[in-house]
Amino acid sequence: MNISKRAQAVPPSATLAVTSRALQLKAQGVDVISFGAGEPDFDTPDYIKDAAVQALKAGKTKYTAAAGIPELKTAIADKLQNENALNYAPDQIIVNIGGKHSVYVAMQAVLDPGDEVILPTPYWVTYPEAIKLAGATPKIVQTDKNNSYKITPQQLKEAVTERTAMLVINSPNNPGGFTYTPQELKAIAGFLEGTKVIVLSDEIYEKLIYGDTKFVSFASLTEDAYSRTLTLNGFSKSFSMTGWRLGYTAGPLNVIKAMGRLQSHMTSNPVTFGQYAAIAALGGPAAEAIEKMRTEFERRGKYMAQRLNSIEGIVCSEPTGAFYCFPDISSHYGRNINGAAISNSMDFAKALLEQANVALVPGSPFGCDGSVRLSFACSLEQITEGLDRIQKWLGH
Ligand code: PMP
Repeated sequence: MNISKRAQAVPPSATLAVTSRALQLKAQGVDVISFGAGEPDFDTPDYIKDAAVQALKAGKTKYTAAAGIPELKTAIADKLQNENALNYAPDQIIVNIGGKHSVYVAMQAVLDPGDEVILPTPYWVTYPEAIKLAGATPKIVQTDKNNSYKITPQQLKEAVTERTAMLVINSPNNPGGFTYTPQELKAIAGFLEGTKVIVLSDEIYEKLIYGDTKFVSFASLTEDAYSRTLTLNGFSKSFSMTGWRLGYTAGPLNVIKAMGRLQSHMTSNPVTFGQYAAIAALGGPAAEAIEKMRTEFERRGKYMAQRLNSIEGIVCSEPTGAFYCFPDISSHYGRNINGAAISNSMDFAKALLEQANVALVPGSPFGCDGSVRLSFACSLEQITEGLDRIQKWLGH
């Protein structure tokens, strides 16, 4: 059967080669330590599961409004008001089928062929594909690792053209593990004033911040920022609900309405009883579970960064958000380790997996070939063992 040009243009996941090989080795009984996870290793809190069960038993099993039930949109509006100082009416909010779907529908709603979208490196792998599927072009901006990979107003100035339609900001960042300070975001907001650039602010890791890091929603900075921003968030990371597929977007009414029209023909509503559980998640005693998870991630992230920095030729900033370390390992390029020539992040990841049975994600699909991503959504024991293996392996 013929495959459309659109589908042909979507590359297979560049990380798949390493992940599927890791699974293959595990199936053969090899003890693989995996730093590949993109989801919290904590279960969804019980009170949220209970709310889903109750909703099911109460017959919440039918279609709802395509953009989500009004009660959930109201609960999200309250959350955005109380936690993020954002004033959105429920009609300015759409519930999508996960944050990934929010990105996709938002881009479908506002981008046209010929538009450019500024994407600072490192970026989450889905953005460039969603941009291209909307007919637009990613304009990848190489950031400076000495500035923790954060885009500066000067770099923005050099990247903006009359075709620039959007800037993607993802803070806390996957895969970088960094978080923009309020001052850095304000400088970006100031630069954008007077332009027509839309900001897609992906805030899905907002609850996972460490040390004295402050999280601020981009749209809350100024009135101008509010009117040019699509605020994207979801339940996957904060509430350990990756499998529930619940994300949301808030923004100008005309955009949210357009997203609603698209969604009504693409997927219809997010799973009905899940939406009721999401109301419970927002209104319930989540703070304690989130804080427990946050503290544990903080401990692990600190330890992982410390261990990475103690290995010769590896440089890693301590993560300030999300659950990833993104060390620079490029000083090992050009080496030959036990017969494997290491000249890029993919070579590094493949050889490490084959020779030391540690799985991590190469930096190239995130736009940073000098680095690799290690998730600390795994136990401290696994982190210790995995880093022992990496240290020993690189010592050869
Ligand atoms: N944005 C970022 C930066 C992410 O890392 C992820 C999950 N990997 C998402 C959005 C989407 O998450 P989900 O679709 O599970 O809500």
